[in-house]
Amino acid sequence: MHEFSMTSEIAKLVLDEAQNRGAKRVLEVNLVIGKLTFLGIEQIRFSYKLLSKGTILQGSKLKIERRDGMVECDKCGYKGPIKSQEDPFYHLSFPSLACPKCSSVVKVTEGRECTIKNIRLEV
Ligand SMILES: [Zn+2]
Repeated sequence: MHEFSMTSEIAKLVLDEAQNRGAKRVLEVNLVIGKLTFLGIEQIRFSYKLLSKGTILQGSKLKIERRDGMVECDKCGYKGPIKSQEDPFYHLSFPSLACPKCSSVVKVTEGRECTIKNIRLEV
């Protein structure tokens, strides 16, 4: 379960940070997750709930900002969003990232991030 290990990493980072600042409680955690990480938001929320039980994360708000996948094509110069998200098979197999214009392999410039934007603590 990819989401669970990812979320447990995030929970650990947040708890470390909260401890360093001597926080009593974590109020809110803001994440930025790119669509090309292929992480399920519902699974992340579920994992977060499980992981926060019995810690100072319990009851905190988890906000997730999705970021679209953006690519760049060396061949034809296309720069922009990747369309494969709308494909019904998108979730079943890892899509090869092809240029929507010329179908050659593209470079991902955005959408693979999975970061903590900020957290709010009660000190
Ligand atoms: Zn292209």
